[in-house]
Amino acid sequence: MYIFTRFVALIAVISLFFAGAFSVSASHSWGNYHWGRTVSPFTLKLGDNVSLNWDARLAAASTDWSVSEVLDTSVVTGTTTPRNCRARTGRVEVCNSKYGKNGWLGVASVWVSGSHIVQGTVKLNDTYFNTPKYNTLAWKQFVMCQEIGHTFGLNHQDEDFTNPNLGTCMDYTNDPSTNQQPNQHDYDQLSLIYSHLDSINTVSSSISSSRAKDEVTDDPDSWGRVLKKDKDGKNSLHEKDLGRGKKVYTFVIWDR
Ligand SMILES: [Zn+2]
Ligand SMILES: [Zn+2]
Repeated sequence: MYIFTRFVALIAVISLFFAGAFSVSASHSWGNYHWGRTVSPFTLKLGDNVSLNWDARLAAASTDWSVSEVLDTSVVTGTTTPRNCRARTGRVEVCNSKYGKNGWLGVASVWVSGSHIVQGTVKLNDTYFNTPKYNTLAWKQFVMCQEIGHTFGLNHQDEDFTNPNLGTCMDYTNDPSTNQQPNQHDYDQLSLIYSHLDSINTVSSSISSSRAKDEVTDDPDSWGRVLKKDKDGKNSLHEKDLGRGKKVYTFVIWDR
């Protein structure tokens, strides 16, 4: 009996250890939201609504993320005007425009229904990217890569701008030179998020508009309540509740 009790205690300690290890390694998704899909790997369409000077950045981000074993991305003709960047169900629309001096370099908005991602948009603000500080390949690639990463269900690995780069675009930084691509941790995280199959597809080949009342705009006031702040105290993640299990999450990289 004594030995049996010791054995049970040992098992309990081991389980706790693995439960702890799992929650640490799973911490860079947010809420475990994911695209619903019945096959693995799956292919997510990235609608190209960007201008010529962004095309190579979009192509590189698509190639880099497709290194993942669980997902591929394909750049396809966009379906919206860059200024409005309206979402379409089953895909991600990527846009650049002069969105104005509203403070943000890039935002990713991700719509979920229940536990599944159903559509996403990425907006890149040329009001800032047309200035000398941000008009560099490194800054553009960093922001493009990070915002697309959010639309898969990935969170930031780090939100402190001043500590050493982690070598991933999912790490906030003042110097994006070595943070332009995903790293192995991002790919591992994707493999965790997408380790199961679903019975429904939210990734779609057909095109349909989302409802106008579910849209978010360029105005931070339209993004809903603040869930998280970065090391500067700026709002890095917002949640807008659309009712009936539907929500929009908006991730932001601010000009600083
Ligand atoms: Zn699922
Ligand atoms: Zn971000």
